[in-house]
Amino acid sequence: MINLILLGLPGAGKGTASEQIVDKYHLTHISTGDMFREAMANKTKVGLEAKSYIDKGNLVPDEVTAKLVEERLSQPDIKEGYILDGFPRTIEQAEMLDGITKRLNKPLTNVIALDVDEDTLVKRLSARFMCKNCGATYNKISKMPKVEGTCDRCGSHEFYQREDDKPEVVKNRLEVNEKMNAPLKDFYQEKGLLTVINGKQTPDKVFEDIDAVLSNNK
Ligand code: AMP
Repeated sequence: MINLILLGLPGAGKGTASEQIVDKYHLTHISTGDMFREAMANKTKVGLEAKSYIDKGNLVPDEVTAKLVEERLSQPDIKEGYILDGFPRTIEQAEMLDGITKRLNKPLTNVIALDVDEDTLVKRLSARFMCKNCGATYNKISKMPKVEGTCDRCGSHEFYQREDDKPEVVKNRLEVNEKMNAPLKDFYQEKGLLTVINGKQTPDKVFEDIDAVLSNNK
């Protein structure tokens, strides 16, 4: 059983790595950012509450986020394990997650941190764009759709830039997330769960390194 957290700042490559991990290990991908974007698109109560924080690049309150994660982790489709992408982002959330995994009897097996320097993150985020229909992520520099103007995953032709990837918001988003990045790594290092991987490598090499960790504890 693999129950994994992917740690890393926005733009570190968590989404791309998640796709590759899901392909090989059939884990359930749980991205709090994706869940919030879906909730905002559907204008649910959580979505409306989250929007004011997300649009400024701030964090949604821990209680709201942790509740969303607990509900998702409680669902019966998680058979082969899970990947948490974008959660936890604070020590408080990490402590809440301890409670959640205990209550649901789904203990963490690994925490993998993707390390990337800030200059690279800023460049990656400003070049990022998404499929309007399925949320697949692309990048003007490194990951264009295979057929120009057509989403690889769903075939849609409409793309957009995330509001919070615009330069005015990116700086605050990185600052907000950087504060907690090192303490979170320390938290999981102390529990003996952490592996740090160089996220500046090509996506295939990043996955090779992740695979080397995960194939040990299948
Ligand atoms: P992401 O797609 O992971 O970059 O998340 C987009 C935005 O959703 C973040 O900038 C936050 O505003 C919000 N968000 C996602 N995950 C969390 C979390 N674990 N805690 C608080 N806010 C979050």
